[in-house]
Amino acid sequence: MKRHLTAREAGLMSCHVCGQLAHIPADRAALLRCPRCRAPMHLRKPASVSTTWALIIAAAVLFVPANLLPMMTTSSLLGRQQDTIMSGVVFLWQSGSWPLAAVVFFASIMVPLLKIIALAWLTVTVQRRSRRSVMQRTRLYRIVEFVGRWSMLDIYVITILVALVNFRGLATIEAGPAAIAFGAVVVLTMFAAMSFDPRLIWDPLTESGKPATHV
Ligand SMILES: [Zn+2]
Repeated sequence: MKRHLTAREAGLMSCHVCGQLAHIPADRAALLRCPRCRAPMHLRKPASVSTTWALIIAAAVLFVPANLLPMMTTSSLLGRQQDTIMSGVVFLWQSGSWPLAAVVFFASIMVPLLKIIALAWLTVTVQRRSRRSVMQRTRLYRIVEFVGRWSMLDIYVITILVALVNFRGLATIEAGPAAIAFGAVVVLTMFAAMSFDPRLIWDPLTESGKPATHV
């Protein structure tokens, strides 16, 4: 892989807010503010690894109630029924709505789980200063960041269901406690992806002092 000059090696750092370049101060401990917009400037996001870990662990813990607690409660003349995400998927599958069952299964169970695993793997390899598969890990980070905004699908499905069913007056549907836990998982993984600094993936290659030929 061709060796490229980094901002740090050029003695420069860029502002995260407005992109302005500034020289790295001789005294590294001094907090530098952006000469243009006055935002604090950092070479790397401060405490990126520990913040990302805290958010991943919180998301992993909340993933359990999100799947075990009822996602919605349906009350009708026939009685009350509580559904978890998985029982909802099974219900959709058995009633013949296979595409919807597959979409809910992937968006609500697989995507958050894979996101947590992917972010944990990225953080572990950064902590170990791994020099392997940097390109693949960078791509994985981009996918994780992109997927984030699409994983609130379950909440949308419930919102539409609640509106539809309540409008017809046949039954009432209420969102269960799992909806809060699920929303928190999605938001926490999005913040974890934001607090992770992907430049840390490349740092072991540029700090070795010799050009990296095989990556
Ligand atoms: Zn700025």
